Amino acid sequence: MKSFMRRDALGAGLRGAASTKPVSRVASVRPAPTAYRTACQVAKVDEMVSVDEELTRLRKENELLRAQLALYQQNQQPSVGAAAVAPPAAATKVLEKPAPAKQASVDGGIIWPKPGEAFWERSPRASPMPLQGGAAEAPPVERDGNPMHIIHITAEMAPIAKVGGLGDVVTGLAKAALARGHFVTVMLPFYECLPKDQIEGLKHECDIEVPKGYRWDGEIRVGPLKTSVFWGRVQGCPVYLIKPADDTNCNIFRGGRIYGGSYNEMEAYLYFCRACLEYLNVSQQNPHVLQLHDWHAAAASMLYWDVYNPNGFSRTRLMLTIHNLDNTGETRQDEFFFTGVPGENFATIDKALDERTIGHNPERLNLMKGGIVYCNAVTTVSPTYANEVLNGGAAGWLRSTFARPELRSKFHGILNGIDCEEWNPATDALLPANFDADRPAGKALCKEFLQKGLGLEVDPRKPLVAVVSRLVPQKGIHLIKAALFRTVEKGGQFVLLGSGHSDPAFRQLADGQFKDHPNCRLKIMYSERLAHMIYAAADVVVVPSMFEPCGLTQMIALRYGAVPLVRRTGGLADTVFDVDGPAGGPAQPRNGFVFDGSDDGALHGALDRALTLYTTQPERWAALQQDNMRLDVSWGKSAKSYVDVYRSISA
Ligand code: ADP
Repeated sequence: MKSFMRRDALGAGLRGAASTKPVSRVASVRPAPTAYRTACQVAKVDEMVSVDEELTRLRKENELLRAQLALYQQNQQPSVGAAAVAPPAAATKVLEKPAPAKQASVDGGIIWPKPGEAFWERSPRASPMPLQGGAAEAPPVERDGNPMHIIHITAEMAPIAKVGGLGDVVTGLAKAALARGHFVTVMLPFYECLPKDQIEGLKHECDIEVPKGYRWDGEIRVGPLKTSVFWGRVQGCPVYLIKPADDTNCNIFRGGRIYGGSYNEMEAYLYFCRACLEYLNVSQQNPHVLQLHDWHAAAASMLYWDVYNPNGFSRTRLMLTIHNLDNTGETRQDEFFFTGVPGENFATIDKALDERTIGHNPERLNLMKGGIVYCNAVTTVSPTYANEVLNGGAAGWLRSTFARPELRSKFHGILNGIDCEEWNPATDALLPANFDADRPAGKALCKEFLQKGLGLEVDPRKPLVAVVSRLVPQKGIHLIKAALFRTVEKGGQFVLLGSGHSDPAFRQLADGQFKDHPNCRLKIMYSERLAHMIYAAADVVVVPSMFEPCGLTQMIALRYGAVPLVRRTGGLADTVFDVDGPAGGPAQPRNGFVFDGSDDGALHGALDRALTLYTTQPERWAALQQDNMRLDVSWGKSAKSYVDVYRSISA
């Protein structure tokens, strides 16, 4: 039985606005539930369950999974030095807690890289290098009463579909909310390039027909696009994967990359938004909250209130999480019709009209703006970025949107965490040696391993400065270069791992001035494995972003005993506090180096201080690294804040 809930203020407000300013609609795109009923839905009619039954089923499933993992962990014996053996896909999650150590020597079993070897392509070790005394117990996770049903709609999910922090955040937050006892599912495009072997229990769930707009002989029409829904688990988190059923005649989500594949991104994500809602509709799922990530998913909020829940009867409420306002999803109104709904429905200033295009013919829509207007709550990924959006220049063209009091009041800044199971130097099977705050010796081995592997001079005394980043203007390209030159000039070592459209400049340096340089290696590529090894080896991680909604690299650096050096902006300002600054409380631990300004000199000042501390006060440096490894950068606190916002908007 379906539950009917009252409309909330936002739903009422929007519909109210729509009724005073009616928008034209194409009759054929209005939902006609009976027409959309598919074989899948018919098959499911008998199984239709109440929300409570659904929650009970999910709870049982969760408990079963936990029990299975616990059993698996008990049966796991760490095999010392068993390098180059891939763990079974389903076992990766349970490698986090090794049995007590059986060997004393931390370097036993390391297979050192040979010259020129692409050592980062080795399979992860079957078990972590045992630490003496075993890995520290993770702190117990607080459980919430009254579990909620949350569904994320996203273009990325780590590790299977990760381009940047968005993927990390979705998986980290979903796992943290699951651990707190909530029922969480992710909906992700089934990109052709996904590593299917990393999706546990992947199976075809059903096919549905998704309304999609087409242009035919100059006319607009809506027709069904047969769509396949798959189901599986990624790191224990349930995920629905969605794509057109006939991908020989349709290139949506095809190609070898997540973005920039061989498909039209705007068409693909608009279709994806419609397909997610359509599937939830036919499978009779009414989560408490649909959490939409960035512009790719924002249109789902517009469709939800316009097509699926126009009267506000269903209990589901929506949250938009803004990871970056650099790309807000500008679209032509006729493109929006890929959803099967005319873009004209949203082309007013109070809805999704892109104000930059007023007076143009035709005027365009801004999907992020649509999401901000149509969602019940809007979050972004750090308090400082939220403040920069509301009161600084970070809102860009959405300045007037964020000036509206009713939109400002539903906007929250919640600091990201990192997934501390995935990013755990004590159990990370990608590292040549493991370590933690109490047993830091393995970090020196990781540094030696990286120096050997990359063909750098092997010298433990040289400070190793690293950057792991997308290479785009946001990340402060000129400052990354300044850090490279300054580090080498000062006798340190510099390693860059990066990719993105600013990479030609670095390629030139890599193949020219710094080719075979004993103290510098520029790896212009994307490699999750090499990234882990670099964090573990680095003494300093530089993040000189021009703006940074949150940033994860500085938090990963802290966790891996590297000292972050950052430009004071967005989430970097919320997580890194200068060692030479005034004494801070526990919320502001003195954990790194911070600079203001955007010229080379500003960066040099901070970098020089870091290199001087490293070389002249090794004991203080070691203490700083160890203290940093003890800091809580997990999702714990932040997941709780998200749950608070979920509850605040629940019907
Ligand atoms: P953004 O999302 O803007 O790229 P974040 O700091 O939030 O920045 O997240 C970046 C994530 O992507 C981190 O997990 C980082 O380790 C990873 N990353 C960035 N570039 C690379 C790369 N070239 N290879 C591997 N991982 C990378």
